[in-house]
Amino acid sequence: MPAPEPGGSRPVSIPIYQTSTFAFTDPAACAAALDDPGGGHAYSRYRNPTTQALEEAVAGLEGGAAAIATSSGMGAINAVLLGLLRPGDHIVAQRCLYGGTVAVFADLAARLQIGVSYISGRDESELRAAIRPESRLLYLETIANPTAAVSDLPALLAAGRGAGLTCVVDNTFATPVLCRPIEHGADIVVHSATKYLGGHDDVTLGIVVTATSDRYPRLWRYAVDLGVTADPFAAWLTIRGLKTLPLRMARHCDNARYLAEHLAEHPAVSAVHWPGLASHPDRQLASRLLAAPGGMLAFDLAGGRPAGMAFVAGLRVAAMAPSLGGAETLVLHPASTSHRQLSPGQLAAAGIAEGTIRVSAGLEHPQDLWADFEQALAGCA
Ligand SMILES: *Cc1c(COP(=O)(O)O)cnc(C)c1O
Repeated sequence: MPAPEPGGSRPVSIPIYQTSTFAFTDPAACAAALDDPGGGHAYSRYRNPTTQALEEAVAGLEGGAAAIATSSGMGAINAVLLGLLRPGDHIVAQRCLYGGTVAVFADLAARLQIGVSYISGRDESELRAAIRPESRLLYLETIANPTAAVSDLPALLAAGRGAGLTCVVDNTFATPVLCRPIEHGADIVVHSATKYLGGHDDVTLGIVVTATSDRYPRLWRYAVDLGVTADPFAAWLTIRGLKTLPLRMARHCDNARYLAEHLAEHPAVSAVHWPGLASHPDRQLASRLLAAPGGMLAFDLAGGRPAGMAFVAGLRVAAMAPSLGGAETLVLHPASTSHRQLSPGQLAAAGIAEGTIRVSAGLEHPQDLWADFEQALAGCA
């Protein structure tokens, strides 16, 4: 936090400390700042006042003790996995995970013999059956991609903790506005702040939040040594995003509802996946666990792959792009883009049809959005 100005005033917006290093008069104070995660500022890869303001804000939002801002969501995930696991350890993870995370798990298995057992995320008996003597970590996502499957955090985290596993939850899709996994027993929460926390498609950043202060020093040291800590300008943009997070989440969820309800009535659409609809298998769980059903939805076009490709090409307001959680509505046809390597069988197992479209509902006027979807649907009938 910046020191007060002469006269006792202070900047209302956190300043950007665009400096890589800090000058000292006392060598002992410099050494202390480098060694101690609670110390002062010496070098911005270790700690920077702007980055620290973001860390304190997100730790507070998630109800955690401390946070580490990283250069991306994958930086956060790698710092946690590499910082906590040793060769021969075992992970239990939910089956439907972010693709980058699955790729890291595959690499850990190949190079460090860290095995992964995948479970559905709905059933704690499946988790109990997957746990081995060498199991160390339970890895879940609050809401999964692209079918908005909700994981039963209270039951799974209780079972994981009971078995002595470190429980990590990727809360990117829910944000602390919709769910605070630490309240349900998570030890560590990770985010791609590139998505909702930043919220404007203009920053790449990640966050690790630890529930208790005892886990923080090891993960902080690991992130510092790995070199994945965030830079101050990216942190500043994310702080700016956080100021409107609750307002944006409310609108994302309202727009998702508007689209989901209209899509469900449309003859070209064979199914809509959004946990606020009565037809979603996780509807009950979502209403217990989430403050609102989220801004991510998916739908299946009856016309399959050609219809999916025609739909995304026909949009004028919404854009086809990877990523999510920003002001603009973004859509993706997973079968031809994000999940293109999967065979038809693997696609089906992930709940993805040839004509599935993933939607990140933005902040536009809902009627403008639906008019755009309607004209694109007309073009793929
Ligand atoms: C995007 C994303 C990530 C990776 O974050 P980056 O900021 O792109 O590195 C991790 N988890 C989830 C759920 C994501 O959506």
